[in-house]
Amino acid sequence: MRIPLMAGNWKMNKTVDEAVAMVNELKGLVADADDVDVAICAPAVNLYAMNEVVEGSNVDLGAENMYWRDSGAYTGELSPAMVKSVGCKYVIVGHSERREIFGENDELLNLKLKAAIDNDLTPILCIGETLEERESGVLFEKIKFQLAAGLSGVQAEAVKDMVLAYEPIWAIGTGKTATPEQAEEIIKFIRQTIASMYDAETAQSIRIQYGGSVKPHNVKEIMAQPNIDGALVGGASLEAESFSKIVNFNK
Ligand code: PEP
Repeated sequence: MRIPLMAGNWKMNKTVDEAVAMVNELKGLVADADDVDVAICAPAVNLYAMNEVVEGSNVDLGAENMYWRDSGAYTGELSPAMVKSVGCKYVIVGHSERREIFGENDELLNLKLKAAIDNDLTPILCIGETLEERESGVLFEKIKFQLAAGLSGVQAEAVKDMVLAYEPIWAIGTGKTATPEQAEEIIKFIRQTIASMYDAETAQSIRIQYGGSVKPHNVKEIMAQPNIDGALVGGASLEAESFSKIVNFNK
């Protein structure tokens, strides 16, 4: 059975003090969460201090990005080992903001994904279409292409344990959510594509989240869809109270 993962993505928000205060509050609010994994992906400079606070709780940590090389002359970057050393279990790979603002392409993201797996980090690989792609009918090809390129050379065993996040770009930070049925349609298609690339067992094992304006008021109907295994949450993960309501959607 797939355990849903509710993961916050703080983006470029919160200083160390603010981050520590938030997770301190959050861990109490989600302590009794049933059958849900919880993670906060935070700016890298906050993670060490956050790790001291969440130790022993059910809140895991993730990085929002990392580089794929082990070490060297890559000014400004973080290695997988660095990310692990501050207590991260997860790392987001290929968020649409990394793709669109920082020009990260599928080839680079594939290297990052493999580096995460090789370093025992669970990657959350983000895929999704623009509004233009949806409206011009190339949505399914785009998803297929992102899966083929992102997972190139990745073995089934690793795919079973990783996480995919379907995030329609038009729904991120806009307040426009895909309807639960729209999200389910694409996530089901992603699962079918994984089955054809690998096998049915791999497709049934991989967790696939939805992301895009998930809030306390809409999480329940999104989570009622059979193929949706949690959410990647931006804005509503910044406050402990709203994120805890998303985590506790089944209470
Ligand atoms: C995100 O950052 O991945 C995201 C889905 O943001 P929001 O929830 O704010 O739309």
